[in-house]
Amino acid sequence: MSAYREGDRTIVLIPARMSEAEERRWVTVMLDKLAAQESKRLLGDDELTERAERLSAQYFDGRARPLTVRWVTNQNTRWGSCTPAEGSIRLSHRLQGMPEYVVDYVLVHELAHLLVPGHGPRFWELLESYPRTERARGYLEGVVAAERLPQLPVVREE
Ligand SMILES: [Zn+2]
Repeated sequence: MSAYREGDRTIVLIPARMSEAEERRWVTVMLDKLAAQESKRLLGDDELTERAERLSAQYFDGRARPLTVRWVTNQNTRWGSCTPAEGSIRLSHRLQGMPEYVVDYVLVHELAHLLVPGHGPRFWELLESYPRTERARGYLEGVVAAERLPQLPVVREE
């Protein structure tokens, strides 16, 4: 599968035998990938912390207060993790280059864990305020499926 720009058109090449639903989903994934490649801007740890603070203000009235937010390269089985006692959030470097709304989703997810542990109804209620939760989860599932790796859940670390 590949996607590229041709003038003001975007061409997405996908296998012919896909169902319409699969096709729609993969076109979305490929367009996101293309947009991510084009932006290619990497956030440093300081910018990541600022971004987390902005997201906390926007979605949680600033109640989630991370002390440190940083990229880590030793985290290949989860997208993000959080240690509420330390107020620290870590994001897998594998998210670098993914669309901003996906990185934001993982940040919002970990910020929410500063307020609510675990993945119960109260947790997902909090995440409903972030409008692209479903889309971001779909994107990450697509990435995992594409790499044929086991599922990489976003989980909280004690
Ligand atoms: Zn989680």
